[in-house]
Amino acid sequence: MAESRPVLDIVAPFLNEAQSASAFAALLDKLEAEVSRRFGMEVHKILVDDGSRDDGAERFSQALSGSWEIVRLSRNFGKEVAVLAGLDQSRGAMALVMDADLQHSMDTSLKMITELVENPDIDVVYAQNDRREASWRRSQLAKLFYSLINSSQRFDIPENAGDFRVMRGAVVRALTSLRDKRRFNKGLFAWAGFRQKAIAYSPENRVTGKSKWSRLNLIAFSLEGFTSFSVIPLRIISLSGMLAALAGIIYGAKVFFEVMFYGIAVPGYPSLMVAVVLLGGLNLTLLGLIGEYVWVTLSESKDRPVYIVRDVVRGDVSGRPPGA
Ligand code: UDP
Ligand code: MG
Repeated sequence: MAESRPVLDIVAPFLNEAQSASAFAALLDKLEAEVSRRFGMEVHKILVDDGSRDDGAERFSQALSGSWEIVRLSRNFGKEVAVLAGLDQSRGAMALVMDADLQHSMDTSLKMITELVENPDIDVVYAQNDRREASWRRSQLAKLFYSLINSSQRFDIPENAGDFRVMRGAVVRALTSLRDKRRFNKGLFAWAGFRQKAIAYSPENRVTGKSKWSRLNLIAFSLEGFTSFSVIPLRIISLSGMLAALAGIIYGAKVFFEVMFYGIAVPGYPSLMVAVVLLGGLNLTLLGLIGEYVWVTLSESKDRPVYIVRDVVRGDVSGRPPGA
């Protein structure tokens, strides 16, 4: 039997990235060579096909070399879930999560791995996007989002940190033990705790294909973050309800006194209209928000698996079982 070296699992989800398959496989090969040379680690690649409609899985399976597996999900479950599906297969001493669209560079990956190998007191190293390219409005919005979501909990969700990170096996096991169905990875990573360290990076430009994030997607994603990690929106609801009620009481008192002491006839139509429309709108918005929370509760309470695997394609030159 060969000597057993520690294994680094590389987890990469992909959705319709056939165009980047050969380039990404080449990047993984280079990364594997470096990791083996510098740290004497073996690399096992775990790709997750998140319901691609192109022939990506086929192309990846032709392009990949060494020890790899492609977990094909039965449909598109979203990147957050695809990452979990990959981590579920990870048995190594460390796991690196990266995108398959070439936006996450080999340099940053190596930097993170080095950091983790050299610092036994750190359990997670994550890449923090320095957002050099983002517009001012976008970055202000991101700031607002993080300050709101972080205002009510015991752990902070770091700004601009995504799935691109290296973790020790213990962290992987902690994360995969969290079976939230509506997953907000940024929050789960933070919730799990451990000693984490950030390193700055800026993502490469996308060379092929396109980002799956539309503006609408981003809004939905932020709402997901709120409803699974924050009670702040509910507090805002209660507060605005109380303020509206207070305003109503004060206005009511004013009308009462005017009628009692000055006998002013009540000219009500415009103010009534404003109040009705305003409160009606507010009511519907807030009901919708409560609905979001109820929906989260409902989807979490159904006893469904987080994802379904269609099949797993394996390739292993050495003939060893993956991760052994
Ligand atoms: N991805 C996925 N499932 C999805 C959406 C995206 O597996 O539903 C993959 C995608 O193929 C890529 C990574 O997740 O490898 C990051 O996605 P994307 O490039 O769209 O996000 P961005 O880089 O714009 O944040
Ligand atoms: Mg991308």
